[in-house]
Amino acid sequence: MQYFDPHIHMASRTTDDLQAMALAGCVGVSEPAFWAGFDRSGLDSFRDYFRQLTEWEPKRAAQFGIRHYCWLGMNAKEAENLDLSRQVIATMKGFLDRPNVLGVGEIGLNKCTPNEVATLAELIDVALQGEEQMLFHTPHLEEKYRGTRMILDLLHADARTDRSRVCIDHCEEQTIRVVLDEGYWAGITLYPTTKGTPERAVDLVEQFGVDRIMVNSSADWGPSDPLAVPKFIFQMRRRGQTEANIRRVVYENPLTFFNQSRNFQFKPAE
Ligand SMILES: [Zn+2]
Repeated sequence: MQYFDPHIHMASRTTDDLQAMALAGCVGVSEPAFWAGFDRSGLDSFRDYFRQLTEWEPKRAAQFGIRHYCWLGMNAKEAENLDLSRQVIATMKGFLDRPNVLGVGEIGLNKCTPNEVATLAELIDVALQGEEQMLFHTPHLEEKYRGTRMILDLLHADARTDRSRVCIDHCEEQTIRVVLDEGYWAGITLYPTTKGTPERAVDLVEQFGVDRIMVNSSADWGPSDPLAVPKFIFQMRRRGQTEANIRRVVYENPLTFFNQSRNFQFKPAE
């Protein structure tokens, strides 16, 4: 089955991964800007990273018939330095019109500190001013609910927010209901250990249905699985879900969500 992986960090993955994904049915990815695993030393590192996401990764993916899109942003883990954050945001603005950019992301909170919130508020303002779609990272484990609630409150405080153009990612059992009830798209991350395993993600689909839900591998430089979405497809089949439901989650939903970005041009195969 053809699928999209709407959240994967290809810059950290090998060409062998791209080949395996293509063989498993992947026809498109979207890559949010992310922390490198260590703090970047200055503005030039961010500029080069934005170039990598908009110039180099699309070419690498195209060799395997995979369309590559990306999101640009400043990760909460690096948002403590407010001076640097402001410089990065100013630089980022110059990249938002590049042809494979879907919007601002992944942005969000990690430890929910005042500096993280200040940087996030600026990023949201840039996105809303430019009518960009947004992709949000939500914190891990114990901060998951509090961080998600803080992000939703920031969005609700701004009348310009169009909830149908925002995805709240890394949703889990304790956050997905509020995200869907309040009108947002919900991303479920399939990790081999933490976050949702494919089995847990199928539980969520059984409980909440297939509307406005996407699943992703979020594969990066750490322990993660670039083939997590095909493993989810396999689990969905084992649990008796229809092909139409599976296709909706892994293919049609990402297309519907991405289609709201002015730069998204994807012709489905007949
Ligand atoms: Zn990510």
